[in-house]
Amino acid sequence: MSSTECIVLDFDGTFTRVDDEAVPFVAGFREGLRARVGEIADTRWDALASRVEADPDHHGWEYDGIIVAPSHADPYIMTTTIAQLLLDELGMTVGARTEILQALYRENYPKSRNVFRNDARRVVEAVLSSGVPVFVVTNSQTEHVEAKLRELDPRGLERLSVRGDARKFVIAEPERSLGTGGGHAWRELWSEVPEKAEISGLSRPMHLRRGHYFDALTKIWDETRTRPENTLVCGDIFELDLALPARLGARVHLVARPQTPEHERRAARTTPGGSVSQELVGLLERLALPG
Ligand SMILES: [Mg+2]
Repeated sequence: MSSTECIVLDFDGTFTRVDDEAVPFVAGFREGLRARVGEIADTRWDALASRVEADPDHHGWEYDGIIVAPSHADPYIMTTTIAQLLLDELGMTVGARTEILQALYRENYPKSRNVFRNDARRVVEAVLSSGVPVFVVTNSQTEHVEAKLRELDPRGLERLSVRGDARKFVIAEPERSLGTGGGHAWRELWSEVPEKAEISGLSRPMHLRRGHYFDALTKIWDETRTRPENTLVCGDIFELDLALPARLGARVHLVARPQTPEHERRAARTTPGGSVSQELVGLLERLALPG
């Protein structure tokens, strides 16, 4: 197998313990929802949560009417999924719903605590000392993630580049990669990405054409003069973080949580060049790095 020349890491849930850090986010999100739609936000919440939990595959984080991540992937997504059902019951259009959910996410993300996985510092230091270019590509805002990383304070942090607002959840055509800055190689690669993939154990298809995420990745590959085949992408949600890069030929590593759906673990394990671990330190084993 060719060597790893570029490492791309997700942030929330990959470096952090989302179940712990999301508690104030969930409280703030529900408060904001109540302020917008009234008491019904509380009276319907438990029933809608049970509906999601009874059939998690059928529900998920919808963006423009398409499920883009599994409902049980993390508390951020579970909260969004339940709120989405409520707004739907209230007769809101997809556009109005998306706008409210995005605003609630943005308003409340800064409230989330900073709870790193126990092995986060050690793993970040080890990948940074490997000399391979390392990037964090996240849906969160760059400055929030950089502030959290400064608190973690790993050796070599100045070599870590954070790319926020990646919008991995948006199913759309890329902009940068197909323009003059991209070139024909990316156009051809993008043309080979199918709209959807069937995943064993998941009753709905997984959508792959995440153009904004594709742009973020090709920008990194252009800057570092690397290729998908020499890149390892690590994240905690296969559908959101890894399905597209795997399709592009990158190697992928899923850092799971106890609640990670089995279909996500299986998808990562059975993808060519894919692997799974419960702890972040599994990434070092994958890269054969000391630490
Ligand atoms: Mg994540």
